[in-house]
Amino acid sequence: MPSLPEPLLELIAVLNKLPGIGPRSAERIALHLVQTDPAFAQRLSQSVLEARQRIRECSLCGGLTERDPCRICDDPHRDTSLICVVERAVDILAIEKAGSFRGRYHVLGGRISPTNAVGPEDLRIADLEKRLASEPVKEVVLALGSDVEGDATSFYLAKRLASGVRVTRIAHGLPAGAGLDFADEVTLSRALEGRREIQ
Ligand code: ZN
Repeated sequence: MPSLPEPLLELIAVLNKLPGIGPRSAERIALHLVQTDPAFAQRLSQSVLEARQRIRECSLCGGLTERDPCRICDDPHRDTSLICVVERAVDILAIEKAGSFRGRYHVLGGRISPTNAVGPEDLRIADLEKRLASEPVKEVVLALGSDVEGDATSFYLAKRLASGVRVTRIAHGLPAGAGLDFADEVTLSRALEGRREIQ
């Protein structure tokens, strides 16, 4: 069987590295792209490059932003006594969409996971401690997943941060193992309102 041309194989291999894109999807998308309008291919590659060059992590919260600090960290109307800790930058979007949280955020960049060799030192915990030392934070709200690793990370943080601030956790009701982006806005708002102190 003749194999596919080299540039096409390369495109499939690259697409296959994207999250949620398996070998079959990578093949389908690649075949579509090589037969699409060249102007579209141009626009796609241009926007990937441009977004990659212009978007960076906020040096305070770790959220994705074009300017540093980001709009949320820089907003004088946000409640500086509250920090909501999330796993990924995309979780900020989910909570912002729910619209009921007026504090600021801190992106951990993952969660403690012995099976994936992710320890506390691999997460942005030291950065969070620095913020707690320099900002007027009274409460840290943990909004991590409600599966085993999310639980372990929440308890670890509660213990490590407890001396300086009140540490609460959003109420359960988020789908186990799923990211915040799977929770609808009402569920998320209720989970935030129903947050409780971690014992
Ligand atoms: Zn920020």
